[in-house]
Amino acid sequence: MAARQSMVTLMREARGWTQTQLAANAVMSQAVISKVETGALELDPERLARLAHALDCPPDFLERSADLPSIEITCLHRRRASTMTVNTMKRIEAVTHLSRISVEGLLSGIELAPARTFERIEIMDDRGPAAIAGELRRRWSTPNGPIRNLIGLVESAGVVIVFRSFGTTGQDAVSTWPEDPGRPPMMLINTDLPSDRLRFTVAHEFGHLVMHRLPTDNQEAEANSFAGEFLAPADEIRHELEGLRTSDFRRLMALKIEWGMSMAALIRRAHDLETITDRQYREFQVRLGKLGWRTSEPGDVARESPSIVNKIIALQRREHEYSDDELARLAGMTEPAFQRYFLADPGSSGQPPLRLDLHE
Ligand SMILES: [Zn+2]
Repeated sequence: MAARQSMVTLMREARGWTQTQLAANAVMSQAVISKVETGALELDPERLARLAHALDCPPDFLERSADLPSIEITCLHRRRASTMTVNTMKRIEAVTHLSRISVEGLLSGIELAPARTFERIEIMDDRGPAAIAGELRRRWSTPNGPIRNLIGLVESAGVVIVFRSFGTTGQDAVSTWPEDPGRPPMMLINTDLPSDRLRFTVAHEFGHLVMHRLPTDNQEAEANSFAGEFLAPADEIRHELEGLRTSDFRRLMALKIEWGMSMAALIRRAHDLETITDRQYREFQVRLGKLGWRTSEPGDVARESPSIVNKIIALQRREHEYSDDELARLAGMTEPAFQRYFLADPGSSGQPPLRLDLHE
């Protein structure tokens, strides 16, 4: 009984709805929703069907045991904590839970066989985040220079990466890695994240998965330090950042394209490596602010896409001959929802832009 309500709650929160909004969409009273969610009221088939319709999920999904895995949220990576409402945070957490339920459902009967391995590595006095990032690059024999396909590299180590809408730009990503053996580390990336921040965010999240079990005060700085070294090792990028002046945006733009990192991340890297002074760093921040580049920078970085979930789906179709309907069932979704979430181009906002031919 209690389990059933939490699925309703989870589905409702993932949509960012209040009980009143769900009640309106399911044509029932808020009091009923509240009772259903607290377990004070049993769902009859008719109400169950209405709720499932409103929440766009199979009715039996709402009846499933919502034995929520002891998901350990390794990172709720917030850009602007102040802009996050409680409902938004609940929404992101619900989306995280549901995405894991879907992915683990799709993995039924499949064992991931990563080409690379990694385990949690604890930060010590003589082994900081940068040293850990360097150790992983060495262990994986990552070639010198920029990593060509970061998402592919991280996925090859068994990290499942999916894009999801968080309903806010205040948070870039969430990572989870339950302790239970056999359950994959997972990264959810906000669909709204600009392409030029994607690689740094993935490296940052990977840093959390490697280094963090429980939230700490320093976790964001540590993950940034890991990401900086993983993407652009000090030995290789230091000379490129030497003598950087605060008017050198042309040079930063070239480095941005070469390394696949935003100018803001490169400026921070230069500051971390002390190739610019504190004063220059502050001056850069002022300039970026005045140019409006803190929100959106010029210069494109090719957008990388995850492929692991597509491969899982392809394997299920080929080996188990599952139809889309059966795959949707595994994912705990209706078929249209499954197609929308898992078969549409990940990371793209869907529709290609309209073409407008201009003639003289
Ligand atoms: Zn973080």
